[in-house]
Amino acid sequence: MIDIHTHLLFGIDDGCESLNDTLAMAEAAVKEGIHTIIATPHHKNGRYENSKDAILLKTGELNEVLKEKQIPLTVLPGQEPRIYGEILEDYRKGEILTLNNGGQYLFIELPSSHVPRYTEKLLYEIQMEGLTPIIVHPERNQEIIQEPDILYRLVNNGALTQVTASSLTGHFGKKIKKFSCQLIEANLTHFISSDAHNLTNRPYRLREAYDEIDQSYGIDTVFLFTENAELLVQGLNVYKEPPEKVKTKRFLGLF
Ligand code: FE
Repeated sequence: MIDIHTHLLFGIDDGCESLNDTLAMAEAAVKEGIHTIIATPHHKNGRYENSKDAILLKTGELNEVLKEKQIPLTVLPGQEPRIYGEILEDYRKGEILTLNNGGQYLFIELPSSHVPRYTEKLLYEIQMEGLTPIIVHPERNQEIIQEPDILYRLVNNGALTQVTASSLTGHFGKKIKKFSCQLIEANLTHFISSDAHNLTNRPYRLREAYDEIDQSYGIDTVFLFTENAELLVQGLNVYKEPPEKVKTKRFLGLF
């Protein structure tokens, strides 16, 4: 398996704290059947800043250590920037890192409480720059949960999304699990990944999530997501089905 969203690099955000943590996480990944990981440290989220060059350097160093320790895991560079108005200017300045430094797919983290009004316009401009924005964990955004049509519009306009494995396994609660399933059913997500921070309260659970998807939707849906992670790493176009609106069951006015 390939995991496209992790906080594996140590000492730079709220993920791994030490090299020992990182090595334990790397070994756990291999044990779970993950052979390739994209390290995506937080950037500009109000607490952490990790710009492109620093991440490229640390990723290279980590791969050397993994080789030395004979841990069969490949770490690729990435970044998880919080949405902000000047992100494209900073991309042009060389501070923003696309996934696997491929110049194609760009993670975008929304604030957890809402979707900024400029999001639609900015995601459009990102695409005009030749990049494909991937909205990370939309299933945990309060405004999107309340109004899924916001996400429908963004996806319909060309954005991709990534749902977190632990959301599907129910570790963020029943409501988020249900909403994650609705996003899959409405073709509103394109990747499943762990967003793993540590081995205690934010582990991978990627295999568990794929097992859930297999049981609920069948192996074809599992293939769609695993293939997409592969295509992303290779810098190729990913599969997407036409998005649909999430069917919300509302009985307003009936009671
Ligand atoms: Fe993350």
